[in-house]
Amino acid sequence: MYKHILFATDLTEDTDYLVDKVRSMRGLTGAKLSLIHVVEPLPGYSYAYLGIEDIEGQLIEEARQSIEKLGEKLQVAKSDQHIEVGPTKTKILKIADEVRADLIVCGSHGRHGLSLLLGSTANAILHGAKCDVLTVRLPEEK
Ligand code: AMP
Repeated sequence: MYKHILFATDLTEDTDYLVDKVRSMRGLTGAKLSLIHVVEPLPGYSYAYLGIEDIEGQLIEEARQSIEKLGEKLQVAKSDQHIEVGPTKTKILKIADEVRADLIVCGSHGRHGLSLLLGSTANAILHGAKCDVLTVRLPEEK
């Protein structure tokens, strides 16, 4: 059975929905659990004119605080909470390789129209992962 689950979280309200599933999966398998959140880099111009300095640093700090809360909820040690900066799909797959995850859990939105053509993070993970991927269908947005 699975030995190491990597939970990819966008740290939005969708995360709450996924937490129960992740917890159950871990309970069923007795697997180790790691968390990954990716901060996408911002275009390289200054946001100082908006009165915001080092916006990327702030985003990383906010992400760190949120993932720590999630880590407490799911009892994941800080050393197994990963924050990466870069392209989301690439970084999730990199960490999955590094920690030797054998299951990645992520959410999946029902998509249609343009966003279906552009593809979702879940799709990208599914096509690039060397291990199994559990895509949890998220409730429709109202
Ligand atoms: P999306 O289709 O891009 O809305 O995202 C679907 C799922 O991909 C989310 O429910 C997360 O599991 C994962 N995901 C999306 N963005 C990120 C991110 N920045 N860091 C980690 N996981 C993410």
